[in-house]
Amino acid sequence: ALYCAKEETGHGKMRQFDDEMARRMSQRRARLDALEQAILNENLEVWLQPKIVLSTGAHVGFEALVRWRHDGDLIMPMEFISLAEESGLIIEIDRFMLRAATRAVAEWNARHGKDVSVSINLSGRHISSPDLEAHVASAIEMSGLRADQVTLELTESVEVRDWGAVSKKLDRLRALGCRLSLDDFGTGYSSLGYLRQMPADELKLDKSFVTDLETSAAAREIVASVVDIARTLDLGVVVEGIENLAQARIAEDLGCTVAQGYLFGRPAPAARCAPPGIPSDQLLELSPSHRPALQRQT
Ligand code: C2E
Ligand code: MG
Ligand code: MG
Repeated sequence: ALYCAKEETGHGKMRQFDDEMARRMSQRRARLDALEQAILNENLEVWLQPKIVLSTGAHVGFEALVRWRHDGDLIMPMEFISLAEESGLIIEIDRFMLRAATRAVAEWNARHGKDVSVSINLSGRHISSPDLEAHVASAIEMSGLRADQVTLELTESVEVRDWGAVSKKLDRLRALGCRLSLDDFGTGYSSLGYLRQMPADELKLDKSFVTDLETSAAAREIVASVVDIARTLDLGVVVEGIENLAQARIAEDLGCTVAQGYLFGRPAPAARCAPPGIPSDQLLELSPSHRPALQRQT
């Protein structure tokens, strides 16, 4: 009732506990129990989505995305990540993904004769966990990947209270040899102050900027400015959510180097991931500067 009062009516108001709240609470409890069981039984799956160098079309890596297999259905992160973050279960999910995604990409590389890297999402909650470095180091070692083939993507969804402690922790993670990426950059509380204090290797521009690239001069200006700042700070820029060739071309013209999105491949289970390629009919629509490079991928 307290939380409902705060959420719905603001401060200084009151709400009485009612049947609807009781129903929502028990639904949440049941969902949480089911998620806890899924983690224990490892009913989580690693899905992989390719990352591509825009100027050459070369496939350089995968982002690992978690899926929950529940009674035969596939549950998407949107439906359980926030519950996992609130409850702390996200730490167990992220640990599973660290182990399973590094292994999946090492196996994929062996199967396809490639040497691509993997990006794994880490919740902000995880950063304060004392044994994070040990888990990252052991996942890398067990998988056989090189440390520099592992990128940790940090989201801004959880507010950082102690910047000093966080940046020391991130320095220690980088000392292991892995790379750090600031995910969904441009949303949440991202600011220049945040950039200044985070030791990172790459910015991952949120897909909301990409959606507007073709229609909004302001979106293009923002992307160009972020790319400028990233260059000054010696950070790579990855752009996510590229769905068509026009967006890919604009993003490259604006200086983004690596891209991810449905155009290059949707997330899929590791066993079903083929090396990505651009369908040849789409190549015709592409600007001449892209054509020779991307053709090699087909
Ligand atoms: P994210 O890390 O920003 O991942 C990118 C999301 O965009 C993925 O959604 C992906 O499927 C989707 N996406 C990729 N290309 C396109 C595109 O071209 N168009 C559109 N509309 N969407 C695209 P997904 O898999 O549903 O994951 C959502 C979010 O859940 C992730 O956003 C990430 O923040 C979180 N998440 C996923 N897996 C994990 C995990 O293992 N641990 C943690 N802590 N968070 C995770
Ligand atoms: Mg991510
Ligand atoms: Mg993102």
